[in-house]
Parts: sequence; structure tokens; C-alpha cells
Amino acid sequence: KRLTKTFSTAFAALAFGALSLALPAAAQDKATVGIAMPTKSSARWIADGDNMVKVLQQRGYNTDLQYADDDIPNQLSQIENMVTKGAKVLVVASIDGTTLSDVLKQAHDKGIKVIAYDRLIRDTPNVDYYATFDNFQVGVLQAESLLKGLGYPANKGPFNIELFGGSPDDNNAYFFYDGALSVLKPLIDNGTLKIASGQMGMDKVSTLRWDGATAQARMDNLLSAYYNDKKLDGVLSPYDGLSIGILSSLKGVGYGSGDMKMPVVTGQDAEVPSVKSILAGEQYSTIFKDTRDLAKVTADMVDASLSGKEVIVNDTKTYDNGVKVVQSYLLKPVVVDKDNWEKVLIGSGYYKPDQIN
Ligand code: BGC
Repeated sequence: KRLTKTFSTAFAALAFGALSLALPAAAQDKATVGIAMPTKSSARWIADGDNMVKVLQQRGYNTDLQYADDDIPNQLSQIENMVTKGAKVLVVASIDGTTLSDVLKQAHDKGIKVIAYDRLIRDTPNVDYYATFDNFQVGVLQAESLLKGLGYPANKGPFNIELFGGSPDDNNAYFFYDGALSVLKPLIDNGTLKIASGQMGMDKVSTLRWDGATAQARMDNLLSAYYNDKKLDGVLSPYDGLSIGILSSLKGVGYGSGDMKMPVVTGQDAEVPSVKSILAGEQYSTIFKDTRDLAKVTADMVDASLSGKEVIVNDTKTYDNGVKVVQSYLLKPVVVDKDNWEKVLIGSGYYKPDQIN
């Protein structure tokens, strides 16, 4: 009996040894990945956090997911905590991409890998990789959709439009704006598109912290200052949360009823209230960025960088963070309007029909 026991213990040890050999190194010691997300006030970031945790746990990692309520000191101390608690990798969607230099230096000094998630982390050498969508292309798609909604080129215009930008501390906001302007600028220059306020450039049109109420207040001001004697035809909005504020301002002065046609309003993130708004004929379009894919690409970066394998990137030129060009993986954004929402959002399984209807 004793012999059997010794034998089975030895066998178990052997089997365990074989098993642990078969597992990737990272999974054996269950490395912890710290995930710093900006805010829960927008559904997209909740989906990002959930998807990251799901994918990383499936691959055998521990996760430490934190949301910072769009508060910079809060995000800093959350990341400091992750470093102290021994995270091996940090995945960071920053609030202000320029404020993390000190804590990321501490992290790198300890050998922790740093992945910028969706938003570029700026002004530091201590960021290893960047996983995101093609942010310039997001802006291009928004602008093209704005023109489609206006009926251009069949309808020659001129059209009255106003521009909104994202948060000036978010590197993405400049890419969205520049992408959109690459399409709109020639038509502004030749008079097809008219901006009655004259407000152009991120310094004039940005919206701190992507705040919908701030966008609504600016739209109120624009309408009362410039549109008493003319109608607005379109609004470039870079994010669904801003579009909702802009739309309620427009509705407030009567757009969307009688002969006051609702202006064409763009968006981004395909958040549920905005998809519903598109179906109701209010918001014109949004941009779908599949956060499941972003989580997967990021998890691949985590895996590869911990096991010393080559990290797969597809862009080595675009994202200069002020100190270095960060190796990036860019996913494709997709424009969604009432013609294709079902195919894209339901067909891909991103939403269930009962979430929208
Ligand atoms: C993201 C967008 C999002 C915006 C506001 C940007 O950094 O790329 O998808 O709409 O932040 O949350």
C-alpha cells in the first residue's frame, strides 16, 4: 500500500511537471496584468474593460481592472498601486496622455511592460506598444458619412455645418479631427461647406473630457449666435456622447420637427442610445470599433512581450509620442448608419437584437 502511495505521488509529481512544461511560462506563475481604464461614464470603456478581463483570464492571467472616473490623480494612483502590487504588464487607456511619465518610469525600472490601449501615452520613452484603431481613418469615415447624409455630391450645397472636436488631452482627438478635415477642408475652401461661426481648429472646437454637456452648451451658443436667420445642415461630432448633447440642443430650438429638418450629426462608438437614435432618425451615423478585437490584439501583445516573442504590429510610423515612435497595431473602424447597423452590430454578435429594439 505504502509503495502504491509513493508511486502515485511520484506519478502525480511527474504528471504535474509535464503539465507545467506544457503551459506557457506566463500562465504558470499567473502573471498579473493591470488594466487602467478612464471612465465608466461611457459604455465603450466598460466593454473594453470587460473584454480585456475575459480574454486575459482565458489565457491564464490574473487581472487588476481599475476605472478612474476621468480623474487624473485617481488614474495615477491606481497605476502606482498596480506597480507596487507586482503587475507584470500595464494596459493603460489614459485620461490625459501626457501625465503618466513618472509612474511609467517606475514601472519600466521594475521591468514592467507598458501597453497604451486605444489612446497614445505621450512624452515618455516608457511605453512599449500601442493597440488602437486607425484613428485618422475614424475621422475620414465621419466626414464621408457627414457628406453622404447631406446628399453630396448629388446635392451641391452649399451646406451650413459646424465642427466639434474631442478632448484636447486625448491624442486621438487630433487624429479624428485631422482625418475629418482631410475630407472636409477642400469643400470648406471652395464654399460647398460653410461654417457660420468660423470656428475651426482643435483650439476652437475641442470638448474637454469628451463631456456631452459641454458640447450641448457650445451648440446652444452657436445656434443662438449664428443661426437665427439660417438653418444648420450638419454637425461633425467625434463621439456619441457629444452627439447626444448636440442633438438635444438642436431639438431644443425646434430641429427635427415641422420644416426644421434635423441636421446630419455623426458620432463614434456605436453606443446603444446612439444606435437607437439612428433608428429613430435623429443621429445620422456612428463609428463601430469592435472592442472584442482590440482586447484580443492587446492580449496578444501581453502574451508575446512576456514570453519574449516578437510582438505583432502593423504600423511603425504613425504614432510619435513626442519622444519616440510607438510600435502600433491599428484595427479597422467601420461606419454605421441606418442602412447597415443590423448587419454590422447584430450580425457580428456585438449586440443582441433586444438591446436595440
Ligand atoms: C476613443 C473613442 C471615444 C473617446 C471618448 C477616444 O479616445 O478612441 O472611441 O469615443 O475616446 O471616450
